[in-house]
Amino acid sequence: MTMRIIASLALGCLMAASPYLGLPGLTVGLGTLTALLALSAVGLNLIFGVLGMLAFGQAAFMSLPGYMGGVLEKLGLPLPAGLLIGLVLTLALARAVAEIFVRLPGMYLAVGTLGFGFVVEGLARAFPAWTGGASGLVFSIGREIGPHAWYLLSLAALGLGLAAYAAIVRGARARRFAAIRHDELSAAVMGVDVVRWKARAFTMGSAFAAIGGTLLACYVGVLVPENAGVNRSLEQVGTIMLGGLGSLLGPVVGTLAVQWLFVVSGYAAAYELLIYGVAFLATVLYAPRGIVGLFKAPQTTHGPAQPAATPSPVAPASVPPAPAPEGSEVYLRVQAVSKFFGGVRAIDGVSFEVRAGEIFTMVGPNGAGKSTLFNLISGIETPTAGSILIMGRDFAQAPIHERAPLMGRSFQVARLVPELTVLENVMVRLDQIFPALSEAQIAARALAQLQAFDLQHLAYRQVRELSAGQHKLIDLARAAAGDPPLLLLDEPAVGLGEEELEHLARLLARLRAQGSAIVIVEHNINFVRRIADRGVVLDSGRPIASGDIADILADKAVQDAYFGALT
Ligand code: ADP
Ligand code: MG
Repeated sequence: MTMRIIASLALGCLMAASPYLGLPGLTVGLGTLTALLALSAVGLNLIFGVLGMLAFGQAAFMSLPGYMGGVLEKLGLPLPAGLLIGLVLTLALARAVAEIFVRLPGMYLAVGTLGFGFVVEGLARAFPAWTGGASGLVFSIGREIGPHAWYLLSLAALGLGLAAYAAIVRGARARRFAAIRHDELSAAVMGVDVVRWKARAFTMGSAFAAIGGTLLACYVGVLVPENAGVNRSLEQVGTIMLGGLGSLLGPVVGTLAVQWLFVVSGYAAAYELLIYGVAFLATVLYAPRGIVGLFKAPQTTHGPAQPAATPSPVAPASVPPAPAPEGSEVYLRVQAVSKFFGGVRAIDGVSFEVRAGEIFTMVGPNGAGKSTLFNLISGIETPTAGSILIMGRDFAQAPIHERAPLMGRSFQVARLVPELTVLENVMVRLDQIFPALSEAQIAARALAQLQAFDLQHLAYRQVRELSAGQHKLIDLARAAAGDPPLLLLDEPAVGLGEEELEHLARLLARLRAQGSAIVIVEHNINFVRRIADRGVVLDSGRPIASGDIADILADKAVQDAYFGALT
């Protein structure tokens, strides 16, 4: 860690000093331009590199405060005041459009921000009386400061920007962002308010653009419509990919490389586009992690490193006394729930309860509605009718993430964050459930959870190195982290070997003994018979039997519907 900081600082100092080294094309002017463009690119790196939102509006956010300031100046306000108001208005606008944009799935966000960029450039062209049109809006401030002072100012702004980025992308936030980037649904199930965090990141990233762009407009002294345009935004996306997506210095290295290429190829302007294009192509083909990635190990972890000495054993989370299932508290109550997809009655008036300390299972042939019912309980689908009470509160219409403290869910195919360690994957869930705990407390709890599941030997391993069976057990440990009263497990036995199956059976028995209410969908009937207490059998969305597991599996109608369908 300290080595990385020293190396980054050394590289930063070298780049800052580069205009004074007499290298070809590297002037103080280029340095100033680079620093201010890089400041905006750092913001785009937060939006695109860290959160994975491909957005093409960064240049529009760079130009908006300048244009607003110019218009306000024409209305009689002093330019500095106009620019300040422009900055504030741009941030308010960014916050507002973020709310809309971040709800759109990937491609739509990209096209939506593209449209936003066209609108801003279009406005700048359409109202030349206010914006100067194609000949540009001239800024009267910034002339008093000399080039060296401007360079220092731009370096200071970039330095502050990098410090802000590093402060934003660390610890629990960095883990949360990685979870969102990798799999939004799984992040939401762990308790992450995905829309809120994406909107925040989009607004913060746009703020970098607004500040960098305003300084740049003052430095250059003129703002033209192309500055807001989509080409400029595309260039910023290419630039951070060239430098290294998601790394601290990637946007700076990328911007310096592009701006320098721009100057050097400017000596032979006919080749400019060609050189640019080849640089971007070569990056995608030969250095997908960018220039910075050529010098840096791929792992970016956001949690504790493995301690040098073996850690002193952490006591597993305290085990509540096992309550008797008979007459014990009802943790989940599904009441007259229906879900229709158009004319398909996927779930049609299903009711049941699951109590503390019991394992409840949903069985039924393919298309019976098991997955739909599961999605309704976990919040991925909203019921057409009926209520879903978890610990007495109706969650039927609540967003997914609000259930997290009361409910853990595992997936049929484990949905872990591959670029994080096993420990960090568990930490992401605990971060959401215990936001007030310190980093060290969260790490200790996550380790205790892994110990309780006999997975501590994998704690510091990267998830992508592990087998599918290990993934499933880790997913279960993660779902159960924070001791939620209700656990939903989607086909927990699928893909497990004999030994892992035994391990799973032991873990489920222990969770039940601790008083959890566990709902499982499982195709392995022998496994269901062995571990489940009660269940419901669905056929075409309707419950055809419910009660003790041995009774319902022996039921004649069930035999016909289920085993008939299997054979
Ligand atoms: P199971 O998990 O028991 O195999 P599902 O819950 O996946 O069953 O499906 C139940 C019924 O609902 C099926 O007829 C299926 O085609 C339908 N269904 C499920 N999801 C959707 C959807 N998103 N849109 C339309 N129909 C759906
Ligand atoms: Mg299914």
